[in-house]
Amino acid sequence: MDRLEQDIQYIKGVGPKKSYLLKRLGINTVEDMVWHMPRSYDDRRNIQKIINLRPGEKATFYGKISGRANVLRPKKNLLLIKFNIRDETGDIEIVFFNKSYLKRVLIPGQKVMVSGDVKKGFKGLQVANPIIEKVDIHGGNRQRITPIYPSTEGLGQKELISIQKRALQIVGDSAREYLPKGTIQNNKLCGIKFALHNIHFPASVQAFKIAKYRLVFEEFFLLQLGLFSIKKGMLQNRKGVALKNNDKINEFVEGLPFVLTEAQERVFKEISQDMEKNIPMNRLVQGDVGSGKTIVAVMSLLKAVINGHQGGLMAPTEILAEQHYLHIRELLGPFGIKVVFLVGSLSKNEKNKILQEIESGEADIVIGTHALIQEGVNFYSLALVITDEQHRFGVRQRAMFANKGKNPHVLVMTATPIPRTLALILYGDLDISIIDQLPPGRKAVKTYSRTSDKRNNIYDFVKKQLDDGRQAYVVCPLIEESEHMDVQSAVEIADELSMDLLRGYNVGLLHGKMSTKEKEKTMDGFKKGDIDVLVSTTVVEVGVDTPNATVMVIESAERFGLTQLHQLRGRVGRSNYQSYCILINNSQSKISERRMDIMQHTTDGFVISEKDLEIRGPGEFFGTKQHGLPELKIADLFKHITILKTVQKEIEKIMMIDPGLTLDDYPMLRKKLEQRFYLEEEHLSFS
Ligand code: ADP
Ligand code: MG
Repeated sequence: MDRLEQDIQYIKGVGPKKSYLLKRLGINTVEDMVWHMPRSYDDRRNIQKIINLRPGEKATFYGKISGRANVLRPKKNLLLIKFNIRDETGDIEIVFFNKSYLKRVLIPGQKVMVSGDVKKGFKGLQVANPIIEKVDIHGGNRQRITPIYPSTEGLGQKELISIQKRALQIVGDSAREYLPKGTIQNNKLCGIKFALHNIHFPASVQAFKIAKYRLVFEEFFLLQLGLFSIKKGMLQNRKGVALKNNDKINEFVEGLPFVLTEAQERVFKEISQDMEKNIPMNRLVQGDVGSGKTIVAVMSLLKAVINGHQGGLMAPTEILAEQHYLHIRELLGPFGIKVVFLVGSLSKNEKNKILQEIESGEADIVIGTHALIQEGVNFYSLALVITDEQHRFGVRQRAMFANKGKNPHVLVMTATPIPRTLALILYGDLDISIIDQLPPGRKAVKTYSRTSDKRNNIYDFVKKQLDDGRQAYVVCPLIEESEHMDVQSAVEIADELSMDLLRGYNVGLLHGKMSTKEKEKTMDGFKKGDIDVLVSTTVVEVGVDTPNATVMVIESAERFGLTQLHQLRGRVGRSNYQSYCILINNSQSKISERRMDIMQHTTDGFVISEKDLEIRGPGEFFGTKQHGLPELKIADLFKHITILKTVQKEIEKIMMIDPGLTLDDYPMLRKKLEQRFYLEEEHLSFS
């Protein structure tokens, strides 16, 4: 067996008990150990003399234990160990709390290195609970930067450091170089052995930087290449349905009340070409809110149906699914296409009827929510699955949907624009199409941030729009702690508006706790123009489309993230009328002011998502776990974006030379990817 894959238990000095603790940290093998990265470092190169220590400083000094330790028990559960350290300039007191085992270790005369916070004690200066370490007579391990590791109870830093040193020794010269030689040379990377040693025990700050760059590079490289090879593998091994082109699609497009934008045409062409191949399509359509993704989806569904197959469209909320259903039924009904609607809240009888229609092939297009991927939903011949607002679903759900057919074509749509570099990581197994153009005549939504003492003026402004025949949304924030409470706040605001500020206008209410029938009625009333103002919770965030609505008031806007505000704002500005978005900001924090500022000055979804990333960081932004990505050990999708770009360029070069990604020239790298992505691949293709 390989030395790197050796069980951590067999490292000298580890044994079953410590290996149990290490496993809790996710360390099973020697290789895991060397990839257990320091969470920070203690810079001990600057060693001070005791006489120069000052309270409030973090300091490292060197000296001798100058006498026997005093052990005190001032309280029942408190054990203090006190002793002094002396160098040629003076004395300082060290205190440890509840570390009885130290008694045996602290031998008078022992030379030690101490690192910790200097404080004022009762008599002179004191250092409490420092890191303390024996040093040999030569003081050989004095001048260095020491790692501080993520740990777990029962496993001290000193132990981790010594296990790490042994692991590095074992790895030694057999450290494996997975990166191709050319890649190392082109990018001036250091070798893996140097990198691993210097990430744990940096010889200098410079060496640390070089090491870190190389390891971040490697981690991104393996992940990105892995995702690409999954994609290649899927393409090679799976056979899908090749669909034919058909004039009906042109007929359909010509019957639309508008002309497709160039971007819509281009993206549909990309989809269409994919669907004509007998390898399943795996494509992401990314387009800002309002760019017109739905119609592209409808054309794709039509293509599947006129070829004699079925198509499915899954949306994250019932409201959106229903809207799609009504819209698509209206568009495709005249072509003799049967569209059905499947959601969890249907009655048993209705559901059974629809399930039967799906199974017999009587239904051509099925539109619904998660209900589509439940057991018991069996398709007659499913050739295309579409997930709308993919960022609301995980990779797993997308895969479950695809598994409802025999290698159907897969299309996913998202309005959350992600910079390309990150999309390649998040959706690395997908081809990407971008609708980078809004339908003509759209005016940028004018956005204003106001405080709540201006509510009267704000709603006066809304009234003017209503009097001009337009409609308005009022969005109330989701209150995290309880779904009940956010419904409550929406109810209260609706009451307040209809009785006071917007008296005389028809105010409707929409929230997640309403029955499907009630929601349907409200949405319908709003669409028809019977309802002037729709007060709702964030249920209108995705997809809802009523072009005559031109004002959106967002209550307590400070509670929303930028991407969410942008999505919400996307509900207006869907016609030729000038639209407005008013953010009621109750917070004076710098961050919410910055958010409001960005919203007032930008309508470009890409810019906004980049800023959002900057403010929130990628973890919160994407919920990487939800996307099924492996956790990164040293690389950070946000902080190291430039390195990621470099990596992607490098991989593009490799793919040019080796388009099938056989990696025949790099057998080690290939083996590594197979090992690492075997599970991931299963997960992604979910077979
Ligand atoms: P999104 O990309 O946010 O899902 P939709 O598909 O809901 O956007 O489209 C937004 C609105 O724009 C809809 O009312 C739709 O009918 C309209 N629309 C779509 N394409 C065009 C176009 N080419 N010209 C004019 N209006 C369009
Ligand atoms: Mg949409």
